[in-house]
Amino acid sequence: MTTTLTENPYSPPRTSVSGRRTEPVPSLEVWREDNFVVCPDGARLPDRCVICNRPSDGRPVQKTLSWHHPAIYLVVFVNLLIYAIVALAVRKKSRAQFSLCPQHRGRRNLGMWIGYGGFVLSVVAMVFGFTSSSRGVQQVIGVTGLVGVILTPLVGVLLSTVVRVKRIDAGRAHLKLGEPFTRSIPRG
Ligand SMILES: [Zn+2]
Repeated sequence: MTTTLTENPYSPPRTSVSGRRTEPVPSLEVWREDNFVVCPDGARLPDRCVICNRPSDGRPVQKTLSWHHPAIYLVVFVNLLIYAIVALAVRKKSRAQFSLCPQHRGRRNLGMWIGYGGFVLSVVAMVFGFTSSSRGVQQVIGVTGLVGVILTPLVGVLLSTVVRVKRIDAGRAHLKLGEPFTRSIPRG
């Protein structure tokens, strides 16, 4: 004796409790195009370090990425303030969630400490060094502070940037990530 099933009992319900059609769950998958990982707005990258592909430390980072066309950088030569206003107006944004291993989390944190903490200390050293009437050690501190004001933001950005945005197109961010991680993502 055979029983004919008119409906697959394992299929997901087509109506919600309230009787309305269940909205399809949005796909949060990411894929690879050439050497870039394409990440739709709000997507979660696989829970592995986006630099070295090793297991994550379990604390994903939520970040809003922004990008504008590289030609906009030419406005810097006109005026830095005008560039800032134009860049804010035309930039495109996309949200992403990514993970890091303990080692690369440490490098990112160090970069942030140098970028923010080092910059503030450098400003203090510069003000102390150059406003002091006495010469010698104070002047050395002032010059050290001046060098620090220029270098700490650069070193900070270099160490703490883990996700580089190639472009954002229709809400999809094209990301330059670590090669081992990128190679682990299937092609789209
Ligand atoms: Zn890593």
